[in-house]
Amino acid sequence: MSIDELYREVILDHFENPRNKGALDPHDMLEHGYNPLCGDKIDIYLNIDDAGVVSGISFDGSGCSISQASVSMLTEVVEGKPVQEVEDLIGQFKGMMLEDEPNPFEDDEDLEELGALEGVKNYPVRIKCALLGWTTLAEALKKFHESR
Ligand code: ZN
Repeated sequence: MSIDELYREVILDHFENPRNKGALDPHDMLEHGYNPLCGDKIDIYLNIDDAGVVSGISFDGSGCSISQASVSMLTEVVEGKPVQEVEDLIGQFKGMMLEDEPNPFEDDEDLEELGALEGVKNYPVRIKCALLGWTTLAEALKKFHESR
């Protein structure tokens, strides 16, 4: 299996078997994201504990396979991480997708699946699809800081 095929499998698997999908009940925060270019919709449900750690995250949404697979992967990797670390991760992901930085997740067993989305860069109109969940979470975290 080529690396491209492997990556396609990863994306398809997350699309068909989304992780952490459905409303998180109860939740502290709910943020809506929308990508008008493609019609993708994503809601992020988020709990952050007193220590500033993401203690719960889930999503709901509809749209193309890339948008939904990307947010499914996102929920898997941020659960249990401190907000600061999550924000660094969002920055790294955006760097990979938008700034031609090399895939920063290659050597990290917990994050390497995210590299599957790097191939989306070959289809510029889909980059916003891959980023939607991440920008929606970033917006939620911005509000979290403002509320403190
Ligand atoms: Zn899309």
